[in-house]
Amino acid sequence: MQRLDVETKSKHYEILVDQDFLDLVPAIRGLDKDFSSYHVVSDDNVTPLYQREILDALAGFGKPVHGVTFPHGEKNKNLSTMEAIYQALIENGADRKSLIVALGGGVAGDMAGYAAATYMRGIAYIQIPTTLLSQVDSSIGGKTGIDFNGYKNIIGAFHQPELVYINTATLKTLPRGEFTSGMAEIIKHAMIKDAAYFDFLELERERVQALDHEVLTSMILRSCEIKSQVVSEDETEKGNRALLNFGHTAGHAIERLMDFRMLHGECVSIGMVAAARLSAAEGGFPPAEAERLVRLLEAYGLPLAVPDLSAESVYEELFHDKKTMGNTLTFALCRRIGDSYLSKGTLTKAQILEALDQV
Ligand code: NAD
Ligand code: ZN
Repeated sequence: MQRLDVETKSKHYEILVDQDFLDLVPAIRGLDKDFSSYHVVSDDNVTPLYQREILDALAGFGKPVHGVTFPHGEKNKNLSTMEAIYQALIENGADRKSLIVALGGGVAGDMAGYAAATYMRGIAYIQIPTTLLSQVDSSIGGKTGIDFNGYKNIIGAFHQPELVYINTATLKTLPRGEFTSGMAEIIKHAMIKDAAYFDFLELERERVQALDHEVLTSMILRSCEIKSQVVSEDETEKGNRALLNFGHTAGHAIERLMDFRMLHGECVSIGMVAAARLSAAEGGFPPAEAERLVRLLEAYGLPLAVPDLSAESVYEELFHDKKTMGNTLTFALCRRIGDSYLSKGTLTKAQILEALDQV
C-alpha cells in the first residue's frame, strides 16, 4: 500500500492506494474517531460489485452498517436522488457521529459528499473512488454537489473527506471506455505540471493499459499529488486552479454541443489538441511537443477531433461556459510540456477559430 498526505486549509487527510480492500478497516480505525454508524452510498452498477464487501468489512466495528443505492448516471445526480439519500440516512438512524462512505465514480462521490456536507450541517465522510476519473480527479479538492435545472454542479459545497481509499483492482470491472476517458485527465496533469510524468506515461503505456498495479499506483499518486498541489496553491494564490482547465474550455463546449453523448475525457482530449494549437499560436509551444501530445492521446485510444462540428459553432459555445467571465475567454495553455499558464483575452477570434478548425 502507498500513501499520500494531503494538506488543505481545513483538514489534513491521506490518500491510500492498494490492490484490495484489506486495509480499509485499519485505515478508518487510524482516523481515531468513534463513528456511531456507517452508511455506504453507491449506484446500482457499483452496489452489486463492491458494496457487500465494504459493508462486511465495516461490520467489524460492531456498529450499525447500512447500504444506500441510487440509480447510476449523471442524469440522476439531482435533487430527487439527494432526497432519497437523506431519507435513507434518517430511516437508518444516521446522526452527527455517523460516517458516510462514498463508493463509486464521481457521481457517487459528488452526491454522497454533498449529503455529508449538508446532513445535520455536515458529518464525516470518506471516498472510495472506483473509476479512474474519480481516483485522480473528483475525489480530490473537496468539491461536492449536484446538477440542477440543466446546470452542471450548480448546487454544492466544499467538504473535505477524512480519507480517500483507492483500490486499483476496481478498475478491472470498469468499462474500457471509462478507463480511457480517465486517462485524458492524467495526460492533462502531465501537460500542466510535469514533463517527467509525461515521459512516464509514454514509456509505461502498455503496463498502464494492462492495469498493472504498481504502475497504476505510481500514476494515480502522481496525478493526485498534482491535482491537490494545484488546488492547495489556489487556496492562497487565487486563480491557479484554472490550470486544471487545460483542454476543458473547448472540451466543455464540445461536450455540450454533442449533448453529452461523448464521454467527458474524450471531449477533453479534443480540447487539449485545440489548447496545444492555441499554445503554439500564442506562446510558441513547440510543434514537436504538440505532436507528442497528439501521439500520446492517440496511443491511449483518445479521440483527436469531432468530424461533425464546425469551428464556428464550437467558438460560439465557448462563451456559454459558466466559468467564462463576461466576454473574455481564459485558456489554460502550455509553454512547454509540463509548464502551463493562464491566458486571458489575448488570443484573437481568428487564432481561436484556426485552432478549433484543426480538431
Ligand atoms: P460515474 O460516477 O457516473 O461513473 C461512470 C460509470 O461507471 C457509471 O455507470 C458507474 O456506475 C460505473 N462504475 C463506476 N465504478 C465502476 C467499476 N469499478 N466497475 C464498473 N462500473 C463502474 O462517472 P465518473 O466519470 O466517475 O464521474 C463523473 C462525475 O464526476 C461528473 O458528475 C462530474 O461532474 C464529477 N466530477 C467532479 C469533480 C469534483 O471536483 N468534485 C471533478 C471532476 C468530475
Ligand atoms: Zn475534467
